[in-house]
Amino acid sequence: VIILAGATAVLGEVYGDLLRAAGATERLMELLETRSSVTSPSNPVVAPVLRSGSAIKFDAVNFHYPSRPLQAALTDFSLDVAPGETVAIVGPSGAGKSTVFQLLLRFYDPASGRIDIDGVATRALTLEDLRGRIGIVPQDAVIFSTSALENIRYGKPGASDEETKAAAQAAFAHDFIMTLPEGYDTFLGERGVRLSGGQRQRIAIARAMLKNSPLLLLDEATSALDAESERMVQAALESAMKGRTTLVIAHRLATVQQADRIIVLDHGKLVEQGTHDQLVAANGVYARLAALQFMD
Ligand code: ADP
Ligand code: MG
Repeated sequence: VIILAGATAVLGEVYGDLLRAAGATERLMELLETRSSVTSPSNPVVAPVLRSGSAIKFDAVNFHYPSRPLQAALTDFSLDVAPGETVAIVGPSGAGKSTVFQLLLRFYDPASGRIDIDGVATRALTLEDLRGRIGIVPQDAVIFSTSALENIRYGKPGASDEETKAAAQAAFAHDFIMTLPEGYDTFLGERGVRLSGGQRQRIAIARAMLKNSPLLLLDEATSALDAESERMVQAALESAMKGRTTLVIAHRLATVQQADRIIVLDHGKLVEQGTHDQLVAANGVYARLAALQFMD
């Protein structure tokens, strides 16, 4: 009680100062206005908070996994992704692609360097806030032993049925769900209907779209899909990336060709970046991967 009273007294003092300062400013403004034709609007527009020019920023990040103190997973890694930009990450197996995601989500902290989203250090955000801003489509989507509807609703617990089905539509999952024995009520998972790889991915994309976060992390599946599935998954990904800042670990040519920029990782280092055509012309790591169709 004593501490509270003391705090209130201090607050009162500061507040008084603020009021006095505001009063002085108001009088100064009145004075200025009498000498000028410029006036303040009576119903001003409140300017939005200026967004940072950078949606995702890695600045000179060095990292090794705790269990391997001598092996760098990322070395002096810097990346600046603009709001709305799609950046494809490619590189051979073990290059550090997944590590970029792990650090962004703060499953680990780097040994040095910093990571910001929207101009704020990820370390300054609560994990809940940080991860709430990021939608993830993993390589192998987990399908829970529950209905198709609940499987998608998992992306935003408490979402309405309409909202959940709209996300399924946007992720090109609605049509295949409607062909299941009980539609959205069909039980999935181990003891239910088993989905194909492409269908599982579309469930994962629907979850991310329902979550509707500004940042999207996609880890594209390496396993080959049948042509029809591949086309639907590609369409679903394009729809998910629209209007979002996206980092995609890419394994397919179609995906990298759509990206605004490609970065190439090798042994934990960013070794090349540019567009597909630029990188093919450079005839380096990327050109070799492209020749192998990115399969890692
Ligand atoms: P990529 O996704 O490009 O295949 P990763 O980011 O998964 O590569 O891995 C980068 C390096 O870190 C590799 O040498 C890998 O063996 C190592 N690594 C990945 N995950 C772990 C982990 N949990 N513990 C220890 N080392 C790991
Ligand atoms: Mg990986």
